[in-house]
Amino acid sequence: MPILDLSRSVRGSRVLVTGGASGMGRATAWLFAREGAKVALTDIDAQGAEEVAQAIRNEGHDAQAWLLDAGDREAIQRIVPEIAQALGGLDIIVNNAGISAKVPFDAPDYDANWDRNLAITLTGQQAVIRASIPFLMASDAPRIINIASTEALGASAGLSAYSAAKAGVIGLTRSFAVELGRHGITVNCLCPGPILTGMTDHLTEEDRATFARRRTALRRYGDPMEVAHVTLSLALPASSYITGAVIPVDGGLSTRHA
Ligand code: NAD
Repeated sequence: MPILDLSRSVRGSRVLVTGGASGMGRATAWLFAREGAKVALTDIDAQGAEEVAQAIRNEGHDAQAWLLDAGDREAIQRIVPEIAQALGGLDIIVNNAGISAKVPFDAPDYDANWDRNLAITLTGQQAVIRASIPFLMASDAPRIINIASTEALGASAGLSAYSAAKAGVIGLTRSFAVELGRHGITVNCLCPGPILTGMTDHLTEEDRATFARRRTALRRYGDPMEVAHVTLSLALPASSYITGAVIPVDGGLSTRHA
């Protein structure tokens, strides 16, 4: 039997990263662009997204920014095809945009937070995937990577909307993996643990250090680029036989017992 030759390059691939203005989305956009991909990064923060795209272009790589609210299904249906047209197609989707706020069950804004979390994280990921499918079907190596969280595997008090939405992302990932497998489209999901991003920068350094020492095997927070590299690995043409997987990128948080 011949040895199968599989590519470990995303050069020329057309990549959509949601929530690309900050944190893991920003790192992911940078990494794919440095690897030679054509990157479209979307965000509700239009200026932040444009600054990231401009910085990437200043390094001589290919990136474009788009204003897109991941909680606006109609905008997703309109703008994803526009992005595909601008990039000449779509090969890789990174569903990364998300919000997180501690909102206990009796908080006055509980319902509003629930609706927004579910809209951005769960409905948003579903809508981006469905809008992308016609383009992914034309790709030689179509890949979808959804960002969930270790909050989908365990839970923290006050994060019920976030936790429920992220657990939903796991279900969405598995279901679309099964449904889209016949088209060669792989769908996987990452569960990042504590990562140094905009989402965690309100915590003091001391609180972060204490949490990381107590809860992770590696005794530290992760860098967004450490998550981006796992996303890149799943997006490689060579990663053609992994789908429906739920992968913690958490410094061992979900493994550590004591
Ligand atoms: P971040 O706050 O640095 O970045 C999130 C980005 O999403 C921002 O650019 C923000 O403007 C954008 N965004 C927010 N709402 C949006 C919307 N409605 N439409 C489009 N863009 C929107 O945080 P991050 O940690 O990089 O978050 C990225 C993903 O990682 C999120 O889905 C988050 O839930 C997940 N996550 C983060 C951690 C962590 O510890 N930081 C852990 C697990 C999972």
